Amino acid sequence: MTADNEEKKKVAIPIEAYLSLPAFLAVVSSAVETFRKETIGYLVGIKGENKFMVEYAIPYQTADSGFVHATIDMDRVARINDILNKLSQGLEFIGDYHSHTAFGDSPATVIPSHTDLASTVPGELNIICAVNLKKRAVRWYENNQGVLIGTIREYRIEIGGYYVEKPTIGKKYERVRIKCPAVTGIPEEKK
Ligand SMILES: [Zn+2]
Repeated sequence: MTADNEEKKKVAIPIEAYLSLPAFLAVVSSAVETFRKETIGYLVGIKGENKFMVEYAIPYQTADSGFVHATIDMDRVARINDILNKLSQGLEFIGDYHSHTAFGDSPATVIPSHTDLASTVPGELNIICAVNLKKRAVRWYENNQGVLIGTIREYRIEIGGYYVEKPTIGKKYERVRIKCPAVTGIPEEKK
C-alpha cells in the first residue's frame, strides 16, 4: 500500500481501547462475581485521538444491579471527577463498563442494548463484558471484530467496546477494538 492510500484511509481508523492488566482484572472479576446479575463501573485513564488507555476499572459499589440493567447514581461520576482533579496525574474519567449475562437460552453478547444506547454519553468509552457458561476452554485472543475473548473457570468472557461520537436519534455507534497485550501477548515479543 502506498503512503497516499494510507492518507486517504485516515477517516476509517478504528477506535482502540487498551486495557491495563489491573483494569482487565477488575472488569472480568466483577462481571464473574455478579454472574446472572449485571455489574457496572467506571473507567479511568487517558483519552487520546482514536485511542483510550484504560488504567483502572472501578465497580460501583452501590449500583442498583438487576437482571434488566444496572443503573448508577450520576452524583458519583461528579464525585469521581472531583477526586481525580485533585490527584490528576493526567488521569480522568473516560467512560463506563457493565456486564451482560445470559437469560435462559439467549446468550449474553457484547452488543449494546437499546437501553444502553439511550443512556450512552457521547465521547465516552463504553465497554461491555459478556459472561456465559463456557463450552470449551480458549486462550485469550482478540477476534477480527476487536472483541477480546477468553475463558476463566466455567465462564466464557467476551469484552467488547462501543462509542457514540455525538448525540443522534438513530442510535448510531461505532465499535471500539479492545486490546489487552497483558493477556493476549504481544505479537513481536522476543524470547
Ligand atoms: Zn447493556
